[in-house]
Amino acid sequence: MIIAERKPMEEIKGFVADKKKVCVIGCRGCVTVCNAGGTKEVEVLASLLRLDSSKNDSPLQVDEFTLERQCDPEYIDEVSHLMDKRYDAILSMACSIGPQFLSRRYPAERVYPVLNTCFLGGALAHGIWAEHCQACGNCIIHKFGGLCPISRCSKSLLNGPCGGSSGGKCEVSKEIDCVWQLIVEKILQEGKMDDFMKIDLVKDWRSSRDGGPRKIVRQELLK
Ligand code: SF4
Ligand code: SF4
Repeated sequence: MIIAERKPMEEIKGFVADKKKVCVIGCRGCVTVCNAGGTKEVEVLASLLRLDSSKNDSPLQVDEFTLERQCDPEYIDEVSHLMDKRYDAILSMACSIGPQFLSRRYPAERVYPVLNTCFLGGALAHGIWAEHCQACGNCIIHKFGGLCPISRCSKSLLNGPCGGSSGGKCEVSKEIDCVWQLIVEKILQEGKMDDFMKIDLVKDWRSSRDGGPRKIVRQELLK
C-alpha cells in the first residue's frame, strides 16, 4: 500500500491561515490502513483546526468527509453536494493522487495536500511501516529469494552486496538490515546458489522511468 504521514501542523495551519471555511476530506484506502488519513485522522485534524482558530474573532468553519477512495472518479462524486458550499480550501488527507483527482474533478476548488506521500510498503509491526517496492514496472524479486534489492538495498544493487555490510546491517545505518545478507541467506536455504551466481543485466528502466507518466489501458475493461 501507499504509506503516507500527515504534514507538520504548522504547515497545515499555513494552508488555512487566511481562510474562513474549509473541508477536510479523508480516504478509506491505503491511508486509513496506515493511520494517516482515514475517518479518525480527519476528525482529529478537523478538531485541531477548530480548536486552534477558536480564539480568533471569526473561528474557522471546518467540515469533514471521508471518501471510499480519492483515486477513483466513482467515489469522488460522493462529495459533489459539498462543493456547492464554496469552500475557501479543500484539505485532502490522501496520498498525492487524491488531491490531484479532487482538483481535476472540481477545478474551481483550491485543494491542498495535507499528507506527505512517503513510499510503497507494508507494516512490520503496529505503528512501523517500511518501504518494500519502488514500482519499477518489472518485478524480478523471484530472482532474489522474494526480496526486493531495488527498494531495500540503500544503493539498489542488483548483483551482490557492496563492501559495507557488517554483521547483517547496512553501512548506511545499523538500524537497516542489509537486504543482500538476507537475500544470500534465503538463496542458501533454497539451495539455489548455482543459478544465483549468474550476473544480472543492468535493469532496463525504460518501462518505468522514461516517457513520462505511466499508464495501463485494459481494453477489455473499457466501456
Ligand atoms: S487516494 Fe491514495 S491513499 Fe487513497 S486509496 Fe487511492 S492510492 Fe490509496
Ligand atoms: S550494506 Fe547491504 S543494503 Fe547497504 S548498500 Fe551495501 S549491499 Fe546495500
